Amino acid sequence: MSDAPRPKEPPVPPQRVETARQSLLEELRRGAATARALGVAVGMREKEVLAHLEHIERSLSARGEKLQVVPAACLGCGYVFEDRRAFARPSRCPRCRGERIEAPRFGIHNTD
Ligand SMILES: [Zn+2]
Repeated sequence: MSDAPRPKEPPVPPQRVETARQSLLEELRRGAATARALGVAVGMREKEVLAHLEHIERSLSARGEKLQVVPAACLGCGYVFEDRRAFARPSRCPRCRGERIEAPRFGIHNTD
């Protein structure tokens, strides 16, 4: 329990957030793509895409849909980051220490 004041949310109009998320959802339905590619398609920074993805993953299950994540993979040794829960691209391979990592890709998988 803490009495520390919560940090103030930045004053982003909710409507704009909804619109951005909507265009991101449309891109996700087109097929799996990296956060960077999604960002280019909808005019967002990669970091913003990743933040939206976390929210999208939670809200999709209510509609019988699922965020599909193609895990990141090491281009050096082929190691696949299967267990990784974070959406951001890992910076280094735990097996070969290589830094050439293929970013994870995201799409929407309809479970119906
Ligand atoms: Zn590796």
